[in-house]
Amino acid sequence: MSEEKELLDILCCPVCHGEFVRDEDWLVCQECKRRYPIRDGIYVLLASEAVMPAEGAISTESQP
Ligand SMILES: [Zn+2]
Repeated sequence: MSEEKELLDILCCPVCHGEFVRDEDWLVCQECKRRYPIRDGIYVLLASEAVMPAEGAISTESQP
């Protein structure tokens, strides 16, 4: 599965340009914690499709 690893290295969050980590059928941004769906093996990297983390899950350190 090294191909996917390399792909994840290339991809970044369209909102904050953070790095992704794969979580089942989601790509999770390590910076803003948005979750982007993977549909039929296609990464849907659209801010409008992203799911924000539950309230309280966001680290206060990321807030200005
Ligand atoms: Zn992000």
